[in-house]
Amino acid sequence: MPQSFTDNEPPILTPPPPTTASPPPVVPNPPRNRFPCASCGADMTFDTPTGGMKCPYCGYMEAVPTSVVGGLAQIEERPLEDYLQIAPERLAKLSATALEVTCTGCGSTIEFEPPKVAGDCPFCGAKIVAQPREADPLLAPEGVLPFFITQKTASASIQKWISTRWFAPNALKRQAEQDKSQGVYLPFWTYDAQTDSRYRGERGEHYYETEYYTGSDGKRESRQVQKTRWYSASGMVHHFFDDVLIAASSSIPRQRLDALEPWGLGDLKPYEPAYLSGFQAQRYQISLSVGFNMAKEVMAARIHSLVRQDIGGDEQRVHSVDTNYSALTFKHLLLPVYISAYRYQGKIFQVIVNARTGEVQGERPYSVWKITFAVLLGLLIIAAIYYFTKDSGSQ
Ligand SMILES: [Zn+2]
Ligand SMILES: [Zn+2]
Repeated sequence: MPQSFTDNEPPILTPPPPTTASPPPVVPNPPRNRFPCASCGADMTFDTPTGGMKCPYCGYMEAVPTSVVGGLAQIEERPLEDYLQIAPERLAKLSATALEVTCTGCGSTIEFEPPKVAGDCPFCGAKIVAQPREADPLLAPEGVLPFFITQKTASASIQKWISTRWFAPNALKRQAEQDKSQGVYLPFWTYDAQTDSRYRGERGEHYYETEYYTGSDGKRESRQVQKTRWYSASGMVHHFFDDVLIAASSSIPRQRLDALEPWGLGDLKPYEPAYLSGFQAQRYQISLSVGFNMAKEVMAARIHSLVRQDIGGDEQRVHSVDTNYSALTFKHLLLPVYISAYRYQGKIFQVIVNARTGEVQGERPYSVWKITFAVLLGLLIIAAIYYFTKDSGSQ
């Protein structure tokens, strides 16, 4: 269902738009202490899996601070039309103190909250050499799924995943033993749309005809043959799409991100900068409008199957579908993953953990040597079986 919001509900506060269009300056001394501990004054970070803020020094805990006047905000759906031409006043920074760096290796832009510093790129493993600068404004996220799985659990899952891949090179297994996974919020868009689709096509109905033929023994025999009679069909199908999820990151292959689902979007929280503390967030690489075209493809596949259902019969032909989209809304979401990226023989391999469910997806190189050995061993076994059965057969 679309999340409705009324004028009575408090809007999500966004910082004022930047006053200049010039590129943000490099920050020599990043501002600190965004979330000071009430007990000792140190920087608090988001704590998994309690979902609150925790001081790493004295252990003091408190709830995630909310920036919305009057308490809890609702996650807002935004009208798509208003945002496809993005005006600067629509943009905001992830937080007032967020910094960002762009990886020269893979082009990903990573945002983070001081005092965290940029180390290796979570997507390609390259050392980040660029100086962090003030984060550029972006279409601020409405919702976030907070990290739930701890870093420790995630690295254990990654190591287990690699160690159970028998054909992975040993060098890789040794690399995996060094814990290098990083917690990153990935950018996603979700789209809602009411679709009304007019279609034209044909309905095929099966019928049977008796066919006569000459059998192998020269006798005349008969059989039933299925035929299809076609009737023209046209009509309308209506469907409301809720939260069609499109990854706005191209640093991870799309099928791998799809395989990390389900995310459990029912647990989304209104975005607060505090969720970023201790983690990184990737800046979206796929724009709102390109993402919408990708969402339309997802919707088109579903509409096509609805059209076929509507046509009915035994077979269907769809000649044309003309869809009208209305009530278009979107949300920008941040979803949590741990990523371990490593290089092996000049190539990049990623293992990713859904930081809500613990689901692991990844790719790894294959050891040519191990596979060759396995194939040779297999051939040897076949040869041995052949040798011994032949031997026993001749006795
Ligand atoms: Zn403290
Ligand atoms: Zn990179």
